[in-house]
Amino acid sequence: MELVVLGSGTSVPHARRSSSAHWLAARGGTLLLDPSASALHRMAQEGLDWAGLDSIWVSHFHLDHVGGLAPFLFGTKYAPQTRERRKALTIFGGRGLEKLLRAFDEANDYGLLEQPFPVEVREVAPRASFEILPNLRAETFSTPHTRESLALRLTDGDGASLVYTSDTGHADALADFARGADLFLMECSFRRDKPVKTHLELADAMQLARRAAPRRVMLAHLYPEWDGVDLPAEAGKLWEGETIEARDGLRLEISRQSEDETRRRADA
Ligand SMILES: [Zn+2]
Ligand SMILES: [Zn+2]
Repeated sequence: MELVVLGSGTSVPHARRSSSAHWLAARGGTLLLDPSASALHRMAQEGLDWAGLDSIWVSHFHLDHVGGLAPFLFGTKYAPQTRERRKALTIFGGRGLEKLLRAFDEANDYGLLEQPFPVEVREVAPRASFEILPNLRAETFSTPHTRESLALRLTDGDGASLVYTSDTGHADALADFARGADLFLMECSFRRDKPVKTHLELADAMQLARRAAPRRVMLAHLYPEWDGVDLPAEAGKLWEGETIEARDGLRLEISRQSEDETRRRADA
């Protein structure tokens, strides 16, 4: 699988960090992790096949994650690139997704679900297991952030795994959910003294990393207070594994951790 960071930032307008979105290319198709307001143009900037996008994951309903859903569907409805498209687009998310989409749509009779191609909306429960793309298994975990917020664990046919927390507060069970992942993509909103419980600061994220023992960690959803800070160096003081700072445009291959490596990590 290949991950492309579209947006490493938050709701705060920022020159180099657009709001939260990631592109995942797997053998069975492509998946947009959170359709943020900036995501639709970021996909085009990265030269990605947005018109052929197969699935969208909506982690929760905050606008820095879902603000681009209606604009994207408004775009695909009229774009020349999607006029000939016939394959379905599936939008997955927690309870309330259909209601939210309907509200966006009815705000001005946009007709967002009348597309040249079928659009399917699928609400999933916590602890669900389903195929989000052919040969890409998805599992969900209810996170302490909003009522509907879900973390996602993806496993491809080769066994490579990605865990995407999206926004979350701290919970030990989240580390269990992420155990041994090849990439643990976590939010790390704040450096320290977080102003709200429903996000992570660095110490929380590194505690989850120590417990989950993933192959690599990537930290995203970075508020401007991270500007100018050497994030991997700060992380390295709290967890000895590899921590990658998400940056808009970063591309990363996610492959399976070998059994030897898993054993070594478990022993460490
Ligand atoms: Zn957010
Ligand atoms: Zn949020």
